[in-house]
Amino acid sequence: MMASGRSPGSAARSVAFLIAFVFVIGTVDRAGADEPIEIFDAHLHYNWEPKPYYSVDEVLALFKKHRVTGILATSRPNTGTHALMDAKPQGLQVVPFIRPYRVRADIQTWFGDPFIFDLVQDEFKRGYYRGIGEFHISGRNADTEWVKKTVDFAVANDLYLHAHADDIAVEILMRHNPRARIIWAHTGFGLSTDRVAEMLSKYPMLWGELSYRSGIVDGSGKLTAEWRALFERYPDRFLLGSDTWINERWQTYGETMAGYRAWLAQLPPKIAAQIANGNAKALFTAAR
Ligand SMILES: [Zn+2]
Repeated sequence: MMASGRSPGSAARSVAFLIAFVFVIGTVDRAGADEPIEIFDAHLHYNWEPKPYYSVDEVLALFKKHRVTGILATSRPNTGTHALMDAKPQGLQVVPFIRPYRVRADIQTWFGDPFIFDLVQDEFKRGYYRGIGEFHISGRNADTEWVKKTVDFAVANDLYLHAHADDIAVEILMRHNPRARIIWAHTGFGLSTDRVAEMLSKYPMLWGELSYRSGIVDGSGKLTAEWRALFERYPDRFLLGSDTWINERWQTYGETMAGYRAWLAQLPPKIAAQIANGNAKALFTAAR
């Protein structure tokens, strides 16, 4: 049957209108998507050995450029963290953690070194710290008097621990003091998602930081089913980080952030916002 009462001309106008309408909506959508999701970088080293890779002004510009609005700031030695705090940057939440290292070699020995515990206590006197870390600990190395003292000191002073550790060491840290609050650097690297889920469910005060964490995306950049499931089950337990432990990580800082945004975009917006910045804000903005 022929359509009655409508000339070919009016049909064309309708189509034109429809195309214009879709174009306008599309433009509005894209304008929203142009603003990249805000990121809190919860694993940042602003090392100062003896100078930082980027000056304070340069590094602050880098954060602004990549819309990083918060950082968990650490430095070896702690000089870099002091400089970031002294800068009092606008539009950037700096959350300082005490790095228990003077030089890189301390990574291997801090857990048996009474001098390091003194360093932590001295540094704490600055009054602005929110945590201790990142420190490295593996398996039974966590089972020392000095590690227990460090965990107890953190709990007594309402500090988070930022632990680069395997699951065994995380369990030992939690056993030292069940009130410990631990940010798990790298979330076990390649540990199975089943085991990560088991740890998150067993320890409600454990958060997974995702730098260098494998398995989140497949070879084509698509979020894997097991990580999607983990994020949906524990949306409030994950954080992002750059882990600028060597200069090359500063050189590729923008790519690291773009990599996070690529898989965050595949999650429901609410969960993406929690992982990108909301969880870190909740941890560090809450009353102490
Ligand atoms: Zn690190």
